[in-house]
Amino acid sequence: MNGQTDVLVVGAGLAGLHTATRLAELGHAVHLVERRPTLSGTIRTTGIFVRRTLDDFDLPTAHLGPPIRRVVLYPPDRRRPVVLESDRDEYRVGDMGPLYEATADRAARAGVHLALGTRYAGRHLDTHALDTPTGPAAVRARFVVGADGARSHVARHLGLDRNRHLIVGAEEVYATTGPVGPPTFHCVLDPSLAPGYLAWVVDDGAHAHVGVAGYPDRFSCGMVRTLDRFAASAPGLPAARRTGQVERRGGPIPVGGLLRGIASPDGLLVGDAAGAVSPLTAGGLDPCLRLSELAAEVLDDALRTGRRDRLARYDGAALRARFRGRLLLRRGLSLVRTPALASASFVPLRTPAGRAAARRILFGDRSFPTP
Ligand SMILES: Cc1cc2nc3c(=O)[nH]c(=O)nc-3n(C[C@H](O)[C@H](O)[C@H](O)COP(=O)(O)OP(=O)(O)OC[C@H]3O[C@@H](n4cnc5c(N)ncnc54)[C@H](O)[C@@H]3O)c2cc1C
Repeated sequence: MNGQTDVLVVGAGLAGLHTATRLAELGHAVHLVERRPTLSGTIRTTGIFVRRTLDDFDLPTAHLGPPIRRVVLYPPDRRRPVVLESDRDEYRVGDMGPLYEATADRAARAGVHLALGTRYAGRHLDTHALDTPTGPAAVRARFVVGADGARSHVARHLGLDRNRHLIVGAEEVYATTGPVGPPTFHCVLDPSLAPGYLAWVVDDGAHAHVGVAGYPDRFSCGMVRTLDRFAASAPGLPAARRTGQVERRGGPIPVGGLLRGIASPDGLLVGDAAGAVSPLTAGGLDPCLRLSELAAEVLDDALRTGRRDRLARYDGAALRARFRGRLLLRRGLSLVRTPALASASFVPLRTPAGRAAARRILFGDRSFPTP
């Protein structure tokens, strides 16, 4: 791939696919490069979409599992869990391989030129080096978009901020015997399994996902062994219901809030690369779509007016100010370091006020501030 384009988008996760599609729909020439050879391999997300995303974005519904309205929160000893039911459909789990491919088809129809198996290798002025399946190549672009995940290379090449506050997550995906009871999202607050975060089972009757996440240096016997331990006794998912392991997923999750410096006159960052993840819930799918909308709007303006300084409107510091509450709650969660403290935190959670607060976080309308 040698040539010239308006925008080079690096990374075909949801953030890159959405930004590229929006820009192409606005009439710009867009190259999207992805280092993975296929979009259905090496998936790094459970794929839980929240109600607000399902309401606001046109996702390919054929690749979304059944709605989930029930969340069960467990203390470390799993006794007396807190059950929260919503009267609305709160979550749906994406079948992410086909969902990425359907999203890429939509991008291609909008005119995006997608190159798989192509790694971004750096830049000199407006010329960007790529490693393609057939050898090195170069592309000239007026702007570059870093949609290349939590450890963004584009951020480094543009001299922008980079994620420093990361947790890591891993999960196993199982085929199951089919629906038994209502689709349920089980969350276990136990720092011996998920230090600084939660262990989870999402069983929507189509697939079951069993995962753990937390601060990497706090897993006493390593994350993979901890995941195995949790999977052996995962709540709501007896071994008899699992008909086979489909895949194992994992990756870093930035939880330090949106980065301050996410744009320069040469380009900008979206998705995990920009730290666009809720610091509390670690959900990044809704934030990456919302921030991508703003990124496309700002780039469209800069391309139409020929003014690079318009990218200053893409201001991470201003957006970050709206993360204060979530950053405080993240700090609170990170301080739950012992099972005893986790158990103690269930005392207020079992009160009406505690249940109402949990409902606001889990069933609320504010997964990410609208930019
Ligand atoms: C285990 C786990 C479970 C999660 N579960 C959920 C969930 O259920 N719900 C939720 O809302 N959030 C979840 N998250 C967070 C969410 O998945 C991410 O925030 C979101 O997927 C980020 O999308 P993205 O497009 O920014 O990044 P990514 O999906 O990471 O995409 C980045 C892409 O860039 C490519 N790339 C990287 N470097 C280069 C390069 N040099 N050249 C070319 N391509 C490159 C990568 O291959 C990748 O495809 C989870 C995260 C993890 C790790």
